[in-house]
Amino acid sequence: MSESNATDSNQSEPTAAAPAPLDPGPRRHDLIVIGGGPGGYVAAIRAAQLGLDTACVDASAQLGGTCLRVGCIPSKALLESSERYEEARGSLADHGVVVGEISLDLAKMMKRKERIVTTLTRGIDGLFRKNNVARYHGRGRFDSTSADGHVVIVEGQGEPVRLVAAKVIIATGSVAAGLPGVEFDVDRVGTSTEALAWDSVPGELVVIGAGAIGLELGSVWRRLGARVTVLEYLDRVLPGMDDELAALALKLLKKQGLKFQFGARVEGVKVADGRCTVAIAGAASISCDRVLVAVGRRPTTDGLGLDAIGLSTDARGHVLVDSRFETAVAGVHAIGDVIAGPMLAHKAEEDGVACVETIVTGHGHVDYDLVPMVVYTEPEVASVGQTEAALVGAGRAFRKGSFAFAGNGRARSLGAIAGFVKILADAQTDRVIGVHLIGPRVSELVAEVAAAMAFGASSEDLARTCHAHPTLAEVIKEAALAVDGRAIHG
Ligand code: NAD
Repeated sequence: MSESNATDSNQSEPTAAAPAPLDPGPRRHDLIVIGGGPGGYVAAIRAAQLGLDTACVDASAQLGGTCLRVGCIPSKALLESSERYEEARGSLADHGVVVGEISLDLAKMMKRKERIVTTLTRGIDGLFRKNNVARYHGRGRFDSTSADGHVVIVEGQGEPVRLVAAKVIIATGSVAAGLPGVEFDVDRVGTSTEALAWDSVPGELVVIGAGAIGLELGSVWRRLGARVTVLEYLDRVLPGMDDELAALALKLLKKQGLKFQFGARVEGVKVADGRCTVAIAGAASISCDRVLVAVGRRPTTDGLGLDAIGLSTDARGHVLVDSRFETAVAGVHAIGDVIAGPMLAHKAEEDGVACVETIVTGHGHVDYDLVPMVVYTEPEVASVGQTEAALVGAGRAFRKGSFAFAGNGRARSLGAIAGFVKILADAQTDRVIGVHLIGPRVSELVAEVAAAMAFGASSEDLARTCHAHPTLAEVIKEAALAVDGRAIHG
């Protein structure tokens, strides 16, 4: 509304025009981080620790991004709860624990998951306060670049807010990829976000994609009572992970009751009368109650205003950065899922710290060869470093040692003996270059080998490290001994 329009024409006495509100100008910070997920919030905290006046913009009322709100954390909560349910219905009896009638209170299970998420997301608010990170609730977009720096507009519930800073980090993460012919209808056909919150157990569930999300959430709903069919385009599960791990994971998941159809290219999903029909190229359609689409994720840059500062993305939607995480526009950096590399929360965190440290100190580094990958199925699957296939492909000579959990006393006590640890060491130097684990709690065990590899350990170093007895970690020691053909218990 213009100033003249604002004057009441019926007024008989002229009054002094109300002074135009002073434009407060943009709010200035040293650094604006767009996105409050594991990449963004960690970058913001590290920047504040290093003395930068830091702002973090996030569209959600809950900080923590996909990982905390609708990804890693809620899925682990449901994996844990569903595993307890399955144990109560089956394996507890092996321990001589006799339980009465078992029933599922899904609403309570979901509430527990929500409480965990809320506690953790509030924790980030607390960390921001402690570190004096200014938090802006709204969608951030680039507006322009001036001599003052990059202008970011935050559009939330109230008036838009203008921020300006010499440095901006894009940490906007990723969203679930769709499939041509498949319309998400929230109730029946959804992504992991919906599958983490269904209010009833589907009788028949079709999961499209046998990656980490498909196998984890497929496991959750199977344990809760769904008949689950996983449709996978390739001829294997967990593409990118070690072949031997993937083969054993498949065998064990099948034994648990998950059904798999490989070479299945889904062409479309139709919903009618509460039933879904999944069309597969060259094969019979499948009818089911619900569909989970888990065919990967794509970087989030929609509405970010990259054009306004002359930035574009590559064919896959990634923001391109150099080794210092800087884009083609000076002062604008990007980290996490929005740039190339594995879409993993812990990789995004490492990016965030390295990016900020590079901005402030000139130095920062992530060793992308040592980013662990974990899939939280039962048993868990974990990897760090090179796969056997990659080493063979690269013509690099290596020695290999494997040891099975069946030969480990702690695994026997747990009643979880399926799986093994495989260590790959350079043939000349004996340096550990890849470790692949499947078995009980390998999500935790992988940290030992990742740390050892970060320090340049040889398999001999691992073999000669005293491991407490009885622990699952002894399997790592035995696998390291096996590299030299001298495992004791195998
Ligand atoms: P993914 O890329 O890991 O797996 C997707 C699978 O879908 C692939 O095997 C692919 O071949 C298959 N696929 C693609 N199109 C298909 C089609 N038309 N028909 C049938 N199959 C098809 O993706 P995801 O499991 O959705 O996970 C997304 C990202 O999130 C990944 O980067 C993953 O690493 C990450 N993530 C990690 C964890 C973890 O670390 N535990 C958990 C969840 C997600």
